[in-house]
Amino acid sequence: MTLIVKEIQAKTIISVSKVYPYVINPYTGCQHGCTYCYARFMKRVTRHREPWGEFVDVKINAPDLLQVEISKKKKQGRVWVSGVCDPYQPLEAKYRLTRKCLEILAQNHWPVIIQTRSPLVLRDIDIIKDAQNFEVGFSVTTADDGIRRLFEPNASSINDRIKALDELHKAGIRTYAMIAPMLPGAERLAELLNGKIDYSLIDRMNYHYADWVYRKYGLEDKLTDDFFYRTMQELASI
Ligand code: SF4
Repeated sequence: MTLIVKEIQAKTIISVSKVYPYVINPYTGCQHGCTYCYARFMKRVTRHREPWGEFVDVKINAPDLLQVEISKKKKQGRVWVSGVCDPYQPLEAKYRLTRKCLEILAQNHWPVIIQTRSPLVLRDIDIIKDAQNFEVGFSVTTADDGIRRLFEPNASSINDRIKALDELHKAGIRTYAMIAPMLPGAERLAELLNGKIDYSLIDRMNYHYADWVYRKYGLEDKLTDDFFYRTMQELASI
């Protein structure tokens, strides 16, 4: 797979979000390239022609922008890191933009909710632990790593995500699991997550981008209402 990386100067970095009050995306595009990813609408917005997962624009001025922009905000609010990219995709190991943004938010006492699929977040445990109001969530969509490979081939293994959640939770950091979109094999997640999270969010597959994966591997029964509601109730009861 080719990856086209471009360093860009963004015009702005902190935006108002419908999910949390604010959102920061240090990158446009995501190397994880999950088959179902809703964020591929960013291709249209940014006029990228490459397939989703094969381009990343690196907003190299993100920390400088953030420093200026939060000093101008009248009201603080929880910042979601990130909404349309994984803030800990592999390029973050080199660019450290997420880390620098978190440092600024922590210094200014802003509450933050981090969402990732990558154990690279552990690199920044020093900042997260000392910050006043940071929490970390992992998207954990299935307990079956074979299924994970079909839908999220470039993201980290389920085992690595669970281990990272455990380490964060043991460090006293508030953690959550985003069981969304719920994939086949999510039934066993309760036992894997037990004792490693403070809460979980559950949602079904709401997009059609990965319908071909379900069809190709004969998994269509895991797209039904019955699968979703039965599994959700089982997980909630445990
Ligand atoms: S990690 Fe998130 S943003 Fe990245 S491709 Fe997967 S679903 Fe999309």
